[in-house]
Amino acid sequence: MTRPRDRDAERRWRPDTQAVRGGLERSPFGETSEALHLTSGFVYGSADEAFGAFSGDNDHHRYTRLGNPTLDVLEERLALLEGGEAARTTASGMSAVFNALASMLRAGDRVVASRALFGSCFQVLTTILPRWGVVTDLIDGHDLAQWEAALARPAKVVFFETPSNPMQELVDVTAVCDLAHAAGARVIVDNIFATPVLQRPLDLGADVVVYSTTKHMDGHGRTLGGAIIGPAAYVESELNPLLQHTGPTMSPFSAWVVLKGLETLRMRVERMTASALDLAGWLETQPGVRAVRHPWLASHPQHALARAQMSGGGSIVTFELDGGRERAFALLDALRLIDLSNNLGDSRSLAIHPATTTHLRIGAQERERTGISEGVIRLSIGLEDVEDLRDDLATALSAASAR
Ligand SMILES: *Cc1c(COP(=O)(O)O)cnc(C)c1O
Repeated sequence: MTRPRDRDAERRWRPDTQAVRGGLERSPFGETSEALHLTSGFVYGSADEAFGAFSGDNDHHRYTRLGNPTLDVLEERLALLEGGEAARTTASGMSAVFNALASMLRAGDRVVASRALFGSCFQVLTTILPRWGVVTDLIDGHDLAQWEAALARPAKVVFFETPSNPMQELVDVTAVCDLAHAAGARVIVDNIFATPVLQRPLDLGADVVVYSTTKHMDGHGRTLGGAIIGPAAYVESELNPLLQHTGPTMSPFSAWVVLKGLETLRMRVERMTASALDLAGWLETQPGVRAVRHPWLASHPQHALARAQMSGGGSIVTFELDGGRERAFALLDALRLIDLSNNLGDSRSLAIHPATTTHLRIGAQERERTGISEGVIRLSIGLEDVEDLRDDLATALSAASAR
């Protein structure tokens, strides 16, 4: 027999303890590490037990689309880390975003969202949800006056990323949540750039937080996954029916990999954040670099807000080169250590040209409105020695300025 779980104690643990032990439910074998229940179904000891599982008289698992012990551990751990009551996992970050929105919206409803969005989030709001009669008003999320104007009318959902991908615009979470609630809307925050290590939107007034676990939570570039965290009543009565019947289920294998990632999340995010800030400050001094965006730089237009609602600036550095696409491509092609890839939050540092990749589909007009010029490069800083990263960037910068 293993020790019984003490769920109240798990709630009181500090985040570093929750990240390693939260939600851990050992099997009768008493394994040290979380068990991987890679199974689609479950067997019953009797017909009566099966009846009880389906009628809700017992909590026997039935089918992994409806729930799985490995997914349960990850969901409980994520809820603890985020300070939320309940969590559900999904097959990708985008299925978390879509299902969080779909669980709250009906035909005729109105969404207000910040226009500085990840490319696929933009598509969901502007091309997919309108097919079901949901309209979205996009505003400049860094400008509180625009939130005030948009939320002077009723809305059902407010959606934003902070910091945003890739320009790292911030939204004042507390102020916008107050406005949203007064307008009758619930607030969904995409907290992927910050992670729960650097920012906890539920503590700031948000209703629901969504993640791509693909990013820092896996942290080693292996699996796709997502998560939705919020009030237990919402998860139970609005989210669960949608997920269970439509089936965007995370693989238990991916969940097991993410559980291992969570154990080192804080150490990795803190180290990557320190390296990112170091490189961001250095990039600001380099010739040919027009602007650098990182929330912890004093030059960030919302630096004071960053300090107030985050505990660190994050692992992403966005910068703009003079000379547009030609120089940006020259720099990317001259990198020898940092990989060219559109993923982020990986232990390996990655670089990408958003205007021609992740943000190609939003179109030139939206790119211009959100400041994604042809000279912009997004860096996701990993765990390598920061001096090797600086050397690689220095070589690539001189190659670009020779163009
Ligand atoms: C990656 C990302 C997503 C989507 O996550 P996937 O796991 O790729 O589906 C959504 N929002 C932001 C800000 C992201 O960076």
